[in-house]
Amino acid sequence: MTELSLSSYLSASLVEQYSYCPTLPWLMVNYEAYEQPTPSMEEGKRRALDKRAVAEELKLEEPWRFEVALASKRLGLRGVVDIVAGSRSYTVVELKAFERNLKRSRHFRDQLLIYALLVNDVLGPVRRAVLYLGRRVLDVPVGERELSRARELVERTRRAVSSPEPPRGTPSPGKCLYCSFRRLCPFSP
Ligand code: SF4
Repeated sequence: MTELSLSSYLSASLVEQYSYCPTLPWLMVNYEAYEQPTPSMEEGKRRALDKRAVAEELKLEEPWRFEVALASKRLGLRGVVDIVAGSRSYTVVELKAFERNLKRSRHFRDQLLIYALLVNDVLGPVRRAVLYLGRRVLDVPVGERELSRARELVERTRRAVSSPEPPRGTPSPGKCLYCSFRRLCPFSP
């Protein structure tokens, strides 16, 4: 049986990008291109949230672990989870420095579910998944149906990045105008 090297595992951030626009991870992998930081990303880094303070605010069960790097051989997936709390069953938290419009945050919810999938596979059952957007707290359902959808998303992303042609994305002025890959993208308006 062939061993997977860590670099051949799909990264959770590529799955998040796929959820935002299916063309994006293909461009990142096939052009070996990386997202240029936007002004809001730079500002977000400056306002890096104190994960311990967030764990206290959310009254998470201890022990707390921060920036937890996980890789699942079974899923061929890797990622770094902002906060994992608890011992026998876990709470997974994804932090974003700014409040966001929830209608435009589906990819963040999907990213959180991908992390929940990883924790569920590597550490144990996940009972709570929380998206912390600025100071807004959103509990995201994390049942078998959601994890199954997350598994499908991982497989769709894997197929997309290995496809010979870029998958058609979801071009829209709101997304494409600020997309670092618009010059490479065949679907950019
Ligand atoms: S330019 Fe638009 S369609 Fe192309 S990758 Fe970026 S967001 Fe997707």
